[in-house]
Parts: sequence; C-alpha cells; structure tokens
Amino acid sequence: MRPVKPRTRLVRPAGPGASPPLDRSTTFAYREPRSAYYQRHGHPTGAEAERLLGELDGGHALLFPSGAGATTALVLSLLRSGSTIGLAEGAYYGTGETFRALEPWGLRFVEFDQTGPPPRDVDLVWVEAPSNPLLTFPDLEAAAAHPAPLVVDATASTPVLLRPLEHGADFVLHSATKFLAGHADALLGALVCRDEADANRLLELRTRTGIVAAPDPAWLLLRGLRTLPLRVERQSASALELARRLAEHPRVERVRYPGLGDPLAARWMEGGFGGLLSFDVAGDARAVEQATQVIMNATSLGGVESLLETRARWEGERVPPNLLRFSVGLEDVDDLWADLTQALERA
Ligand code: PLP
Repeated sequence: MRPVKPRTRLVRPAGPGASPPLDRSTTFAYREPRSAYYQRHGHPTGAEAERLLGELDGGHALLFPSGAGATTALVLSLLRSGSTIGLAEGAYYGTGETFRALEPWGLRFVEFDQTGPPPRDVDLVWVEAPSNPLLTFPDLEAAAAHPAPLVVDATASTPVLLRPLEHGADFVLHSATKFLAGHADALLGALVCRDEADANRLLELRTRTGIVAAPDPAWLLLRGLRTLPLRVERQSASALELARRLAEHPRVERVRYPGLGDPLAARWMEGGFGGLLSFDVAGDARAVEQATQVIMNATSLGGVESLLETRARWEGERVPPNLLRFSVGLEDVDDLWADLTQALERA
C-alpha cells in the first residue's frame, strides 16, 4: 500500500446557482437534447451526483436507494443461481444477511480472511476496506489477482482515502448513507464500475427492477460531496488521536483502527485513515455506551455527529461482547475525549 495522500480538492456540482438544483419530476418532455425521460430510468439530480462520484472514484457511478439496495442490484446483475460469493469475514454483517436472503434463489456465499487471498472456487470476491466493525484491511493485490470480479466496499474509506478501481477492483460499493452524504439524513447507496459495459448492464437492471434512488437523497449526496474531503480529513485526524489515547486507557483492552500499532501501515495513514474505529472495553461495554453525553448511543456511522454502540446487540457472537464501534464526528476532539473518559469510568 502506498502512502495515503488524501484527495483534498472539493467537487463542484454543475448549475447556475451556488447550490445545485433539485428536480423532482417523474417525467420529462420529449425534447432534444434529452437528459431524462422517466425517473425510474434516471433523473438530472441523480445524474449530477453520479457524475461527481464517478469522477471521485475514477469510474462509472450509479445510485441506489441504500447500500443494501446496491448490494442486491450488483448480485442480481452479475450472478446466477448456483453462483458463490467469497465474502470477507467480519465485513458489515448486513451484507452477509442480504446474501442469505437471496439463498432461496440459489445464491451461496463463503467467508474468508480478507488479509489473505480469496478462496479459489468463488464467482465473485467481496472485500471491505476497512471492514466494519473489525477494521481489518483487505489484501487488495491478492484479491485483484483472483480471476473472479472484485467488489470493494469502500464505505469507511471513501474516495478521499482509497480509490479501489486503481488497485484492480471491478466495482466499488458505498453506503452513501454514511460519509458520502455525511449528515445522517439520507439513505442511499452507490456502485462505481470500472467498465462502462457493466454500468450499462446495471442501469438496465436498475430500471427493470426499480431499485432506484429518488432525487431528494441524491440532492443530499450532492450537498455532502461538496464537503467530503474536509470532513474525512478532520474525522480521520480525530479518530487517530482518539485511537491513540484509547490504546493507553486502563479500561480499554484493544483498539482497532487501520494501521494503529503497525509501523508499516502507519506510514500510509499519517493523518489517520477514516472516522471509524472500534475498541474492546475491559468491563461492561453497555454501561459505557449508555453513559456518553456528547456521543450519541445509536447505530450507523459517517455523520457529522459521533455515534457509539456495542455491535454484539446486532451481530451476536460474530464480534466480542465488549466491542464498541465508534464513528467519530466533527466535534472538538477534547470534548469527545472528556466524554469517553467519563463514560469509561462506568465500565
Ligand atoms: N456497507 C457497509 C460497510 C455498511 O456499514 C453498511 C451499513 O451500515 C452498508 C454497506 C449498507 O448500507 P445501507 O445501510 O445504506 O443499506
């Protein structure tokens, strides 16, 4: 992995005003030049967000109504009954649950350790960079060397820190609900394809199945993308600082954050690598999450406000019972630390 130089250039949506237009039309006049004809196929607000996200990731972007919707669309587009997915162990648990929901249609998945090569006999390789909530990082070189198409869920890194298409991925998946939209007010997913032919196939499937994002969340994505580099830089810096402080805290057994404690990796994440971390409490993690006052005890990640939760409540034995996932927001880092230290007293 090369040193990460965050992409700090801000993106600018097209349009006559300082803020991009929001067009809620479901149908459009048959007039040339034609930008859209029916909303299920596409709409100007979504097309602009797709253009900007495509530029950021270096591919062809398509929006979906959620990250899970994007996952479903990709699987339906690429695979057939009898296909097997190699899924990174410890990846977002909902992704495995989506695959499980599709098992009655003949889909199979096997889990593997993404820090090594994927299993040989799979038809699609699915990794997460970094994984949520265990924060492992995939061996992208080994994953890209596999003959099957490679999907990288880059929700937690965003194109500010990682552009998987440059590392051999065929598809990037984002839960745009998280850092991309960034304000905990839009449910949205995105796929960015390396090949235009794949994007066209997905567009066809999206139109036929109706798994399509509406203009309002697409507009909120446009708003979010305009501050994405600033938010990611600040959230990464705060997360790294808090990860270091937590690692020294007597009530904390283990901190999970990309590169922490690994001198090689530390070279490529000098300013931190994203706003997501997790830590294992020496004691009662539920008591800690209920004692925070600045940090909200709630699920999800990637918004401007910090969120903290035990993941065992959702994932059961897949994760340690004392693991807390912490999505670092834009608050002052010392305020966050003061809140964490008083809450850790309850552990
Ligand atoms: N991928 C990752 C890494 C996630 O964390 C999530 C949701 O938490 C998803 C995908 C699914 O996204 P959504 O909730 O937008 O459907």
